[in-house]
Amino acid sequence: MNIKEVKELLSSPKNIVITTHKNPDGDAIGSSLALHHYLSSLGHNATVITPNEYPNFLKWVPGEDSILKYSHNTKEVKSKIKEADLIFTLDFNHLSRSGDLEEVLAKTETTFIMIDHHQQPDTYAKHMYSDVDMSSTCQMIYHFIEKLDDLEKITADIATCIYVGIMTDTGSFRYRSTTSTTHRVVADLIDKGADNTNIHESIYDTNTLSRLRLKGIALNNLKVLPEYNVAYIHISQDELDQNNFRKGDTEGFVNLGLSIEGVKFAAIFIENKNEGIIKISLRSKGDFSVNEFSRNHFEGGGHHNAAGGKSNLSLSKTVEKFISILPTYKNALNQ
Ligand code: 5GP
Ligand code: MN
Repeated sequence: MNIKEVKELLSSPKNIVITTHKNPDGDAIGSSLALHHYLSSLGHNATVITPNEYPNFLKWVPGEDSILKYSHNTKEVKSKIKEADLIFTLDFNHLSRSGDLEEVLAKTETTFIMIDHHQQPDTYAKHMYSDVDMSSTCQMIYHFIEKLDDLEKITADIATCIYVGIMTDTGSFRYRSTTSTTHRVVADLIDKGADNTNIHESIYDTNTLSRLRLKGIALNNLKVLPEYNVAYIHISQDELDQNNFRKGDTEGFVNLGLSIEGVKFAAIFIENKNEGIIKISLRSKGDFSVNEFSRNHFEGGGHHNAAGGKSNLSLSKTVEKFISILPTYKNALNQ
């Protein structure tokens, strides 16, 4: 990214759209809202647009009530994108990750700025800040503001938004992407007003009885294949329906498998009858790349140790396919 050119672009008031991937997570919402607050403070007319709904546990992040969802506010979103002088795409690097919003974004000739930490970025953006070693897009928003010499403009709200995404994408500061710099950034965010204890509680202590029951089902369905150091979980649409499923309820379940001693590769398969797909989340420890695995077999991608994908087969056929692929990776999974 040529920071001088970006600085020049931001030197006069603009209509700016900030958007992120489908099924936004803490990093997607946190980075979008942090950037929204920052750009607004510079005098821009900024709008955050998500392709669709996000989990309830994010419905308190500062500025969240201003977000437009393409799935709900279709007309308004289209006109915002039409009017935009600049579009920031955060926490994704391929327009196909934006669901139904993809065709609207693909049609515009506006200047795109990408800020993202996923593998293998596409080239739609004129300005790209892509770094696969970063813990989170939120950390990159901090460094972006730093590059623009504006760290003193980070308010308590901005610090809170950034903290959310760093925390959720690092599994509360434990994954390999967590560096000493990440900790220094987080320390500064606390100094700038992020209420760390409160943020952890707001995101993680939000179980409902139904969600806990669903976790019980996930644990019941959990299977381990010791010869491959693999664990996997499947959840059917019926199981979701019987437990009053709400968006975000299955967040983190894939890590239950990964927490088993010896397991290096964990998967969860969740049936989505509405979309006619099985949504897949993959996690690994160490050298095994779930990004590659997902790209090769399940139309997805992501990071080295955390990726997602999908399947158009039935739930049981998807699990069968997954198991049938494992022998190819036997050596890699036994190192
Ligand atoms: P999760 O399993 O939490 O949904 O996603 C793990 C990581 O993989 C996230 O960084 C997410 O953005 C990415 N990811 C999830 N689903 C997909 C997908 O279908 N395609 C690609 N390319 N990345 C995905
Ligand atoms: Mn992220």
